[in-house]
Amino acid sequence: MTNAERAIGRRIEAVKRRGKNILVGLSGGAFLRVHLKMTGNCLVVPDVRLRAATVRAWFGLEDGRGLVLDDPRALGRISFHEESEREALFAGLGPEPDDAAFTVAHLAACARKTVKPVKLLLMEQKAVVGLGNIYAAEALFQAGIDPKKPSSRISGPKLRALHGAIVGVLRIALDSAVAAYEQPGGFAEGENFPVAVYGREGEQCFRCQSVIRRIPQGGRSTYYCPGCQK
Ligand SMILES: [Zn+2]
Repeated sequence: MTNAERAIGRRIEAVKRRGKNILVGLSGGAFLRVHLKMTGNCLVVPDVRLRAATVRAWFGLEDGRGLVLDDPRALGRISFHEESEREALFAGLGPEPDDAAFTVAHLAACARKTVKPVKLLLMEQKAVVGLGNIYAAEALFQAGIDPKKPSSRISGPKLRALHGAIVGVLRIALDSAVAAYEQPGGFAEGENFPVAVYGREGEQCFRCQSVIRRIPQGGRSTYYCPGCQK
């Protein structure tokens, strides 16, 4: 039996999230793990037989509708798991930004342990989950921290500012995503998020009028303001 076949006949009981993973709880102690990556979208369509060409996985529901993973770039992942696998599956993930475990002290402890650039620390999902390329750049801008700065060399006050910025940025991201999903049509990451630096290379900083720069970091582009971020 394939992994997909193991989902057949089960009832969808809950939809939750851990970090960037969507968890679709199924009857019989199992769940589907969906990671949308860059361009994925999880949707319920009115008729499972009428699927867009970019749908990579689909599950027919008993009333004829379909739960689909639509993903133009085919980077997204969907997998079937037993409840017993859950702990091991997410063992490497840090706390949720809105969890009581995500404190300034926790962030400071993670930062102290490594000289890797702070942008990479934020992206690896161990200090905290949920920050992608856009939100990590925006949180660092709000906290006034140079993304290249070695994590262990960030001052206490800056770490406090960063903690607040992470929580604030992800709250706005969540609100803007909910608003985007309530509209008909597609949804892209950060579509409604009011960016200050991301994607603005060569343009002026809204705050200090310096020119926004773009540098490669960990195989991705990092945008920052050399005037505001030290
Ligand atoms: Zn600036």
